[in-house]
Amino acid sequence: MTELATPPVEQEQDVKRISHWIGGRIVEGNSGRSGPVYNPAAGRQTGAVDFASAEEVDRAVRAAKKAFPAWRATSLSKKSAILFRVRELVHDREDDIARILTSEHGKVFSDAQGEVARGLEVIEYCCGIPELLKGGFTEQASTGIDVYSIRQPLGVVAGITPFNFPAMVPMWMWAPAIACGNTFVLKPSEKDPSASNFTAELLREAGVPDGVFNVVHGDKVAVDAVLEHPDIVAVSFVGSTPIAKYVYETATLHHKRCQALGGAKNHMIVLPDADIDMAADAAVSAGYGSAGERCMAVSMVVAVGHAADELVDAIKARIPSVKVGDGMDSTSEMGPLITREHRDKVAGYVERAPDEGATVVVDGRDGAPEDGFFLAPSLLDNVRPGTKAYDDEIFGPVLGITRVETYDEAVRLVNENPYGNGTAIFTRDGGVARQFQFDVQVGMVGVNVPIPVPVAYYSFGGWKNSLFGDLHIYGPEGIDFYTRGKVVTSRWPDPATSKVDLGFPQTR
Ligand code: NAD
Repeated sequence: MTELATPPVEQEQDVKRISHWIGGRIVEGNSGRSGPVYNPAAGRQTGAVDFASAEEVDRAVRAAKKAFPAWRATSLSKKSAILFRVRELVHDREDDIARILTSEHGKVFSDAQGEVARGLEVIEYCCGIPELLKGGFTEQASTGIDVYSIRQPLGVVAGITPFNFPAMVPMWMWAPAIACGNTFVLKPSEKDPSASNFTAELLREAGVPDGVFNVVHGDKVAVDAVLEHPDIVAVSFVGSTPIAKYVYETATLHHKRCQALGGAKNHMIVLPDADIDMAADAAVSAGYGSAGERCMAVSMVVAVGHAADELVDAIKARIPSVKVGDGMDSTSEMGPLITREHRDKVAGYVERAPDEGATVVVDGRDGAPEDGFFLAPSLLDNVRPGTKAYDDEIFGPVLGITRVETYDEAVRLVNENPYGNGTAIFTRDGGVARQFQFDVQVGMVGVNVPIPVPVAYYSFGGWKNSLFGDLHIYGPEGIDFYTRGKVVTSRWPDPATSKVDLGFPQTR
């Protein structure tokens, strides 16, 4: 969670200032408050991001409100054409965006490219907005009466996003929001804010009108101003569970529609009949990829029956070859954590593990690069519910193993966990996998797939403490979230409104 009330940062020569984007241009903050941005691989401050006051948030909302009537009235053909241009520009600049992500977040460059590529899929889905907004039509519902349904945009909507996907998660929000005809205010994570400003420039270049997409940077002050602003009608949030709950409660108290996606503790169940090598590859990839800073990371492996010993050995054998280093080094597979404080917090779970009855099989505090906020992969065995290592979302490269005797015990562990974001089962038995899909109380389920992030034409979201609100994000539910339905019942006198026009019919 973010610290509050960060003091202004000294402007060193090589520390760049990151300001807001309002009404189609950079607007320097004047609140007198800012926060540091680091290159986590170097452990060095590289930026200072302005923190918005409530007045600055209001300025962004006013810009968005001014832009709304014209954007709403823009035809679907034109909106779609602009989105196709956005798609091309993001695609062309994928590596530039990825470099920004690696420099401020720390994830390795190939992973950053993957982040942009998955976000791009959401933009591509939104290019089909004319199809997505098609309503229903019933002719002759009553004699001479037709009934049809339409979906309309909400107005000014806002997104508040976490540090771990600084480009993709905002894309989950702004792409469907503006495709549906809303105007948007983004409050990205203050830890890696630059990708949002770069996105803003690309949107302007693509022809998105000024004021349709705005960025305000900041901390709780900016978030509260968003949640309380009377002209913001809907808020999407992605971040940790305590803040998701707070955002959901505060936004709905202020009569806003809200979807607030929270944290996770994702279990990967490995049954005795599973391909152990495949399961070990998956556990290492999904546990340590992006240094475990993914809401869909596997953090607990539930080894059933005699799978356990072989699986622990197989995971342990793979860990020494995971190359930890600067994300811009093409040989690195895992980068640093986001801040020094977070690295130390994650290391604390490994330190306390023996006191909690767990076995430290691999200790990631040894062997990580010394500069920067690095921690090498750790593996803990015999981790039990009721301990910190089991119950907390560690959000770092610490993979826990828990051992159970039966499938039923494994499913009970998943279902009793307060989080319900992602889960996976590894087995060769299709019948058991099908039963798992039926039994498990989790929003996204993988069968021999460790990170089951839905493709862009389905929707993403967890259950229980991983989501507050009703609608999942992006995909069809994203379109529903950013629109309101209307049903029209109509009766017409005999119309005589035709005229001769021999031109080829065009969309206008
Ligand atoms: P975070 O909750 O600390 O911050 C998220 C956003 O909330 C940021 O924009 C931040 O500025 C703001 N914020 C932080 N503290 C606040 C406060 N006290 N009041 C108001 N606003 C506040 O999360 P994070 O550390 O940036 O991201 C990691 C978390 O996000 C993890 O828990 C991870 O599981 C979760 N996450 C979830 C999903 C999902 O889809 N469910 C996806 C990505 C990340």
